[in-house]
Amino acid sequence: MLVSEEDIGILWVSSIFAATHNELNVDSIGQPITVTIDDCECPECDIEREPIEFDSTLLIHIPTKNGVISQRLTPSEAQAIGKSLLKFSQEIIDYKAGFK
Ligand SMILES: [Zn+2]
Repeated sequence: MLVSEEDIGILWVSSIFAATHNELNVDSIGQPITVTIDDCECPECDIEREPIEFDSTLLIHIPTKNGVISQRLTPSEAQAIGKSLLKFSQEIIDYKAGFK
């Protein structure tokens, strides 16, 4: 479910997918935040994806000091987050530019 209050710069997304925490990759500091289409056909990804349709969702991986947090998103959830990131970041850029 997507809920937003754009006037105050907040978007809440209750994804249909739960976030996961992979502690196997504990040494994740320094790894990049990754955004990808879930289109890998390797056996590990196939097992993790089941029964989700191949090439139908996006994945965000966020490294932490205790492993990697992964969030699967539907395309509409990803679009809502993407639009908010663009809108909110532009508001900050415009706000900061007003002080120059
Ligand atoms: Zn894979």
